[in-house]
Amino acid sequence: MEKIAFIGLGNMGGPMAANLVAAGYRVTAFDLSEAALQQAESSGCVRGESAHQSVQDADVVISMLPSGEAVKGLFLGARGLLQVMDANALVIECSTIAAGDARQLIAAAGDRGIRAIDAPVSGGTAAAAAGTLSFMCGGDATAVDAARPFLQAMGANIFHAGPAGAGQVAKICNNMLLAIHMIGTAEALQLGVDNGLDPKVLSEIMRASSGGNWSLEKYNPYPGVMDGVPASREYSGGFSVTLMLKDLGLAMDTAAGSASSTPLGALAKNLYQLHGGDPVNRVLDFSSIQNLFRRPAGD
Ligand code: NAD
Repeated sequence: MEKIAFIGLGNMGGPMAANLVAAGYRVTAFDLSEAALQQAESSGCVRGESAHQSVQDADVVISMLPSGEAVKGLFLGARGLLQVMDANALVIECSTIAAGDARQLIAAAGDRGIRAIDAPVSGGTAAAAAGTLSFMCGGDATAVDAARPFLQAMGANIFHAGPAGAGQVAKICNNMLLAIHMIGTAEALQLGVDNGLDPKVLSEIMRASSGGNWSLEKYNPYPGVMDGVPASREYSGGFSVTLMLKDLGLAMDTAAGSASSTPLGALAKNLYQLHGGDPVNRVLDFSSIQNLFRRPAGD
């Protein structure tokens, strides 16, 4: 059985590493946070002493980090992980980062003969825990195929989007659309409520009509309409406004790079920036954009 090093054990990486352990792999895990390391140990991972020590005898290195800076800082340069990894190892980089950063990593790995792919995920923390993530992969088909058994232990859907960086492009297209239909859903629900409709009844009508969409059906942003979603627990847990803003920033950078017209993406970013202007909102789930449209009580 292959030995895996897993770097970045946060809300997503922690449960992903646990699912690899559950599938029978030996996982050496490392994070800068002591609490994350302890959690990983309790799920059966071996505690890595450092990132460098963790990858030294690894067949597969998986990373799940907050930003492109973190990924490049970890892997690249004279002191980067690529310098100490086995040339037969495979890198599966799962963070959401700029496609250009992913391409830089994959090219640098290739210079050392190391196979690498970008494999950002969709599905959030619940899917990470359930092992039902969707992976959007970019890179050579042979490297993506080599990654499949490990991805299957953490996910339900594995897509090969195209060459290096294509997974990241697919991911930010998806999340830009997600932001747009979440905002549209919140706006429509509020219009109905302001005009005397019950948000549950309105949701049911729109679900069965042409306004139906994922935000309405699976992740309803209006409190009290749906159980088990962040709106039913004061928008705690889930996918934060901060992370959505990061993804919308990546989408706008990508659009600028290809001179693509993305007016709704730009507006969605502006609305999330307005909402996240209050630091209290930044840590809430992104469906809390509903509060931007709700009137204060008594208004
Ligand atoms: P998180 O902040 O919970 O976890 C990131 C972890 O990385 C932290 O534990 C941090 O200590 C660790 N870390 C940072 N730099 C490190 C380094 N140099 N070495 C070792 N550990 C380091 O974030 P998350 O929610 O797990 O998200 C991780 C990635 O997944 C992000 O790129 C995010 O955009 C993406 N993502 C998140 C979700 C979600 O719902 N949370 C969904 C899809 C994709």
